[in-house]
Amino acid sequence: MSRLPLICANWKMNHTASEATRFLQDFVSRMAAHRSALDERVEIAIAPAHPVLDRLGRGLEGSGIQLAAQNLHAEESGAFTGEVSLSMLVDLGCRYALIGHSERRALFGEKDPEIAAKALRLQGSPIRPILCVGETLEERDRGATLDVVGQQLSSVLEVADGLGDELVVAYEPVWAIGTGRTATPETAQEVHAAIRKALSDRLGRAGDRIRILYGGSVNPSNAGELLSQPDIDGALVGGASLDPEAFARIALACLEIP
Ligand code: PEP
Repeated sequence: MSRLPLICANWKMNHTASEATRFLQDFVSRMAAHRSALDERVEIAIAPAHPVLDRLGRGLEGSGIQLAAQNLHAEESGAFTGEVSLSMLVDLGCRYALIGHSERRALFGEKDPEIAAKALRLQGSPIRPILCVGETLEERDRGATLDVVGQQLSSVLEVADGLGDELVVAYEPVWAIGTGRTATPETAQEVHAAIRKALSDRLGRAGDRIRILYGGSVNPSNAGELLSQPDIDGALVGGASLDPEAFARIALACLEIP
């Protein structure tokens, strides 16, 4: 089963609109020579902070690069100060939205039912969810990785049961995020294969088509080996995506996959 790899930048709370514009000029010029190969071999998305979506979205027009949001609220409108709704993101041209990022879970107290409600809100909309799952170091050390990841996944699939292959999953071991410590390709593949099996058991053939990204200290040096694993269908990239050269090298690594 061939799945188009997706390389998504998660800028977190970095890059103002002016910095995003400069990033884009640099990034697009680095990718220009590979444009046709890229369109066929990899999909690229960038998730800036919400106030930057508008400016970046305008800059991305015609580039083939997709706009992504880092989060959204599960309700469509109402008294939710500081929050952003699905229709606001659709209006800005977003194609993807991260949900359940480990920083949202750990720092902002998001739990599985809230994340499932966000997935349900996205179901049937023009925006595809990138559902982030992953275990902490303590959970890995006590051998609970597959249970934790399985629970994070099934809590969403039980509620948003019509997503099919619109869903993208990002396996991001919490101990590898922003730490410089990457899961080995074999360790990552083992969890990706378990996620693939869980998806196929529940969704049949659609489970085979769902892209499972790896995230956690991906950089230009380790991207190629990670992306060569059979069930790693792209990457969610934090720190290294802030630098246009590093992010371009990660995206270009997809062209080397046999
Ligand atoms: C992330 O936060 O989604 C992430 C993968 O970060 P980093 O690449 O910096 O580990």
